Amino acid sequence: MSQDIKYQIVSVVNELYDAGLITPKGGNVSTRIPDSEDIWITPTQLFKGALTEESLIRVNLQGRKLEGRDRPSVEMQMHLLVYRTREDVGAVVHTHAPMATVLGVFGDPIPPLTIEAIALSDAPVVPFLLSGTKEQCQSVVDALGDGSAVLLQNHGLLTVGDDLRDAATRAQQLEFAARTVVVCRLLRGEPTLIPEKLAEFLKKIVA
Ligand SMILES: [Zn+2]
Repeated sequence: MSQDIKYQIVSVVNELYDAGLITPKGGNVSTRIPDSEDIWITPTQLFKGALTEESLIRVNLQGRKLEGRDRPSVEMQMHLLVYRTREDVGAVVHTHAPMATVLGVFGDPIPPLTIEAIALSDAPVVPFLLSGTKEQCQSVVDALGDGSAVLLQNHGLLTVGDDLRDAATRAQQLEFAARTVVVCRLLRGEPTLIPEKLAEFLKKIVA
């Protein structure tokens, strides 16, 4: 089981790297280990385009390292606080996705401009704080609330899900929606949004 999870993490990191969401050294992915109080998380500093299962790190929810030869990122603290706060969360994805970062820099949330973007249009923008600090971790968790995604100003994005697939898919949807917004603004300015009443109706369906 544990081996399957490690394979899944490496596959998801490869997928997000190939999609341009994870930069060569930026971004981290974690998932709970069933029937335990532990998680597997990706290491810091290593090139994310060629991670192996051997580079993953097992830690408990207090951050004590239990297995692995490499070091976790300081951003692990953000993952751990999400898991400690949200029992329903099975996986966390944090990436420095370029278009989500562009929107975050301007403090702009995703507007409801496509059906796919609607589910993520509530994702708040968290002001920039130093990674790994108590204040930064708490501000991310507070902004996330019982939601599934946040934009991190001058930094990237964070998504959560029932499992890795769920969290990674959400990260990709967020980045694609952000890309659509950025391209619209570059071409012609503010895009036409889905009318408010229809957006509210659709949100109930796609949420
Ligand atoms: Zn980061």
